[in-house]
Amino acid sequence: MIQSSAFAQKIIGWYWEHKRPLPWRETTDPYKIWLSEIILQQTRVAQGLPYYERFVKTYPTVKALAAAPQQNVLRLWQGLGYYSRARNLHACAKQIVETYNGVFPNNFNDLQKLPGVGPYTAAAIASIAFKESVAVVDGNVYRVLARVFGIEIDTASTEGKKYFFEKANQLVPAKDPDLFNQAMMEFGALHCLPQNPKCDDCIFSNTCVARKHELQNVLPIKSKKIKIKKRYFYYFDFRFKNSRLMKHRTAKDIWQGLYDFYLIEKNRPTNSAGLRQEEMAIVAPYLPAKLPAPFKHVLSHQQLFIHIIPVHIHSEKEFLHAAKQLNLQVISKKGLERIPKPIIIEKYFNSTA
Ligand code: SF4
Repeated sequence: MIQSSAFAQKIIGWYWEHKRPLPWRETTDPYKIWLSEIILQQTRVAQGLPYYERFVKTYPTVKALAAAPQQNVLRLWQGLGYYSRARNLHACAKQIVETYNGVFPNNFNDLQKLPGVGPYTAAAIASIAFKESVAVVDGNVYRVLARVFGIEIDTASTEGKKYFFEKANQLVPAKDPDLFNQAMMEFGALHCLPQNPKCDDCIFSNTCVARKHELQNVLPIKSKKIKIKKRYFYYFDFRFKNSRLMKHRTAKDIWQGLYDFYLIEKNRPTNSAGLRQEEMAIVAPYLPAKLPAPFKHVLSHQQLFIHIIPVHIHSEKEFLHAAKQLNLQVISKKGLERIPKPIIIEKYFNSTA
């Protein structure tokens, strides 16, 4: 089995040769590193990069981000999904300004106390910005370690998480923790891929346990099955001239803080007659005989089937009455541009513009 120091040396050597030139790799500013880490969680680099650039340009410092209205932050985040990340991003910026006078804590333990900053992000900031010798452990790191060292412990279990964290921390070198962590993540992202890892041309080809025993498709082991919930959304897009009726989503649910339409939600599919029977008299007259086909929107733990029913209203009085009855906000065409919306609604607007 490969020794810790040889492992670190090899992977850092590989990183120098193969790393992608990315803007957050050119800095030791904890604000920018934190921003990139939050944006890149559950997001591919190609998708996250323009968001990172927009955030840095709009909010060049943590103080600027903290001072922004939450709505503007959500609007800039729009399209990235997992909006709790954006809300936490904003809350975290505020806390850094209020508690730490705008200066990031400089160690793993204190960083972990910030909103939305778990062990992974804290380790990334601590090692890259402050050279603390602490390992970052993400999906890429699980995969590389499980394969190279033949670790058959379930990465989703508490025991597995602890084991992999300790293993990674044994490997991280005191001198270059920043390079080591970035190298591990980059090697997992570009070389030791989930499917078809590049084993024939690999720095670990002589020592990798998975390669030796042909376990690449077995490791890492992740047993926990995610239960997918299906939700059926029936939206009513009330329009009068260029104005729309929108709802601010305040409940603790997906898309909290964003705006959508008046919504009837079901836990099973239904049709126009079904909705007419079950729902309030106020929306019944607006139901067409046949509902528009649904858009399918897949989130990590949920599948949404979204019908959007356009409702053209021709009198202002009726429009304002509907707004009052259904507790909706009248939003002008300009206002629609500014408010943060789920990407599915943005796409719908673009398709009907
Ligand atoms: S030999 Fe294959 S499985 Fe092993 S580290 Fe290299 S790419 Fe990954």
